[in-house]
Amino acid sequence: EHIRRNIEYAIAVMESRYVNRVVEIPDDEVPATLSGEGPVPPEIKRWLVQTFTSRRADVRGRKESETRRSLRSVVHAVQAGMFVERMFRKTSVGVQNLPPEVQEHFKNIDSWSYDVFELDRISDGNSLKFVFYELLNKYDLIRKFKIPLKSLFAYSARLQRGYRKYNNRYHNPIHAADVAQSLNCLLVSSGFVHWLSDLEMFSMIMAAVVHDLEHSGTTNTFHTNTRSPLAQMYNDKSVLENHHISSAFRLLNEEDCDILVNFSKDDYPSKEARTLMIDMVLATDMSQHFGQVKKLQSNLQHPESLEKSRAMCLMIHSADINHPSKQWELHCRWTERLVVEFFEQGDQERKLGLPLSPLCDRHTTMVAQSQIGFMDYVIKPTYDVLFDIFRNVNGPVVRDAILSLRRAS
Ligand code: 5GP
Ligand code: MN
Repeated sequence: EHIRRNIEYAIAVMESRYVNRVVEIPDDEVPATLSGEGPVPPEIKRWLVQTFTSRRADVRGRKESETRRSLRSVVHAVQAGMFVERMFRKTSVGVQNLPPEVQEHFKNIDSWSYDVFELDRISDGNSLKFVFYELLNKYDLIRKFKIPLKSLFAYSARLQRGYRKYNNRYHNPIHAADVAQSLNCLLVSSGFVHWLSDLEMFSMIMAAVVHDLEHSGTTNTFHTNTRSPLAQMYNDKSVLENHHISSAFRLLNEEDCDILVNFSKDDYPSKEARTLMIDMVLATDMSQHFGQVKKLQSNLQHPESLEKSRAMCLMIHSADINHPSKQWELHCRWTERLVVEFFEQGDQERKLGLPLSPLCDRHTTMVAQSQIGFMDYVIKPTYDVLFDIFRNVNGPVVRDAILSLRRAS
């Protein structure tokens, strides 16, 4: 453990020379197929471009590929060590007795067809609290970071309350539980769990759980157009996402809620954990979508220069838009909920005399067509890139792990 920490520190020092360079956003972030004539109706094109692109965002640094390559081998060696350690480690430590029905239901928590609505029903509306607990426990993070159970449950209760603030049909605690459970599936099925440190695992689970906290049930565009207090606070930039992550840290200060209280000084408030959580939640802003996917597609031309934090951001983003790739019944339920929220925003816009946002007009919106556009232009490319990343990450890590196992025996 001591050696691993030292090596990681050395890598961080070496890498810090190369990070945070701002590069230009390519102008062609929108897929070419969207700019010409095609099968996608103009209304849906308008929605895709308006919702999923931005030319303002900052893109984090390009690294010198030569140096990266040599650092990679060190990183792989460290990761291989972690991989070996995790193969032998106990996962669920069973600190707390969950209700038996919930415990039984969690046997399926690694499955992509997991029914989070059923979990919410059998847990009396506590799906978020139990998923948060189950994932932290499954990866032994409660013990490793000495998270007091009292704080964990108090914090979870505040989170659930925060998610219910606006009574949204879609952006509610069940959605947060769904995103965390889906993230877990991606981590497990890809083998990514072996590539992440405990602190990174914790940061990802936490980001998934808090990523839509106190969501208003309206979009960033609506906040900007109505000059809402949040839009003023965050200067129209990733308004909701800034609020979600800021509120998550704010709630830690409430009575008995500080789940990070026993984190070592190295772990928190280390720049690493806090920055990661902030970056991941900000990356769920859909206006970053096309830019984010395009950037990773081009990074994959030189897989050795792939940045871990970028890959982590894409995983959270993918988990956030998981349902169109899930079973039809689950997808239909989520879509119905989302459409209710969109239409309620449209009703408000009509009342305020504002132009109606795309997909928000209950009288004209073509739900089925918009879903096809969403799947073809958003879901499919996202998951294609994600799976390419999985292939690239796991190849070298697994290879190094096998080599070090051979050496050890
Ligand atoms: P979130 O708001 O949950 O952080 O980000 C997810 C966003 O992706 C939603 O607000 C919505 O804009 C979009 N989204 C997720 N699922 C669907 C879907 O099935 N159809 C459409 N049209 N948009 C979706
Ligand atoms: Mn979300």
